[in-house]
Amino acid sequence: MAGHQSGEERNEGCASGGRDLKARLASIPSVERVIASAAAQPLIAEYGRTQVLAAIRETLDGWRRDVQTANSAAADDAPFDETRATAAAAHALAARSQSRLRSVFNLTGTVLHTNLGRALLPDEAVRAVVRALTQPMSLEFDLATGRRGERDDLIEALVCELTGAEAATVVNNNAAAVLLTLSALATKKDVIVSRGELVEIGGAFRIPDIMSRAGAKLREVGTTNRTHLRDYEEAIGARTGLLMKVHCSNYAIAGFTKSVELDELAPLARKHGLPVAVDLGSGTLVDLAQFGLPAEPTVRETIEAGADVVTFSGDKLLGGPQAGLIVGRANLIRKIRKHPLKRALRVGKLTLAALEPVLQLYRAPEFLRERLTTLRLLTRPGEEMRATAQRVMPALQRALGDAYRVSVEPMFSQIGSGALPVDVLPSFGLVVRSGGVPGIAHAATTAAASKRAGRGRALMKLEAALRALPRPVIGRIADDALHLDLRCLEAVDEASFVAQCAELHL
Ligand SMILES: *Cc1c(COP(=O)(O)O)cnc(C)c1O
Repeated sequence: MAGHQSGEERNEGCASGGRDLKARLASIPSVERVIASAAAQPLIAEYGRTQVLAAIRETLDGWRRDVQTANSAAADDAPFDETRATAAAAHALAARSQSRLRSVFNLTGTVLHTNLGRALLPDEAVRAVVRALTQPMSLEFDLATGRRGERDDLIEALVCELTGAEAATVVNNNAAAVLLTLSALATKKDVIVSRGELVEIGGAFRIPDIMSRAGAKLREVGTTNRTHLRDYEEAIGARTGLLMKVHCSNYAIAGFTKSVELDELAPLARKHGLPVAVDLGSGTLVDLAQFGLPAEPTVRETIEAGADVVTFSGDKLLGGPQAGLIVGRANLIRKIRKHPLKRALRVGKLTLAALEPVLQLYRAPEFLRERLTTLRLLTRPGEEMRATAQRVMPALQRALGDAYRVSVEPMFSQIGSGALPVDVLPSFGLVVRSGGVPGIAHAATTAAASKRAGRGRALMKLEAALRALPRPVIGRIADDALHLDLRCLEAVDEASFVAQCAELHL
């Protein structure tokens, strides 16, 4: 029974303690009574009887446990009636039915944030996905002949037009594209890769691992910082199946370095009758320099420089849905398409529905900056972001009170997803510091250290409170402050961001 200290104390010297407990337990209504009550009827209409019954039973069981362990929730004198039981059940049902996949505000400063879903899609793509979800589609159906079609046919001509490739196919993501390419072109063969390009992309994508999964043998050449053309040449032998280049997506090797460019490597490969595959990672279809962004090799340039196969992601700089595009020579793409893994890694109709209108946008480069969401976010004018910051700052300061100080400050965003890792984009946002007074760099005295620890705790508490909002706000802690980069807070969402500030509970 009540082994709890507080329970014993409450019953101490009171002969009626046991009887009180019994009376309290008896006052808990039956499940049948609660579910038959008027208050339960709207819940049944919303969630169905099965769920409501289970939630009420759970509530009542909880009360019985509370009474028996003299838990504080049962210690009050509020009656255990049907209204209270229904309210508790309603609360539990609402919490349970909330989607686990929530909309958030991405104020991390990383535009293509893998953990937050990468590229946001333009309206055209959204409408196409809704159509594909609700209407039958000509997914593998040739409307000209009435015969079975190929799902790749939906986008192949468009991808070729935009990249200059002879042929194209699409799979689930770029990791799948690389796995499939290696499986189709290099199983039981050697693949020559520079040691400086043996990358690991977050989330367990490592070139050497993919290579062994594909049954290919990795032949590393050169050193981490320097690889020469002769290193490749000396490694080519009877077992060589492919030369491969991998874009250093998430790191940069600086200093005393040498890598072999594609336009040097391709003639060597051709001399030996070998194909060159390039994993571009992000892979952009347009010259980003024209938008004031750091340059990235385009897919077209890569093909023109002599790549036989190029793989890249759909949801990185391309700005589309998660997908992996494989483009290149027709005979190689044919081989890739015929491999059994292609069927396992194929994309669904929603991906194709979203990808096509995104690719269409590239046909009108004049409008791209405005219409392609990713590009619009990456090129947002500083003045606009500063103005946004100034407009939303007061609401956040009001919600946080005196314990925190909010200021509008310049900061740096990142493209993310491994694109252009060392480049950062000047941005504006809110910086939140705890403790009212900005931290002065004291000597590492105990007092200063504990003060800093206190500020650290306050910032973590603030981060957690922002995550608990109806639409969670995700920022970034750096330099003893919480940074909310406003690059990705566009006008449409500003009002709802401001409104929910009032709901912050610290
Ligand atoms: C991002 C990346 C990948 C993986 O692409 P996903 O679309 O995330 O599967 C592979 N290679 C490189 C070089 C990358 O940058």
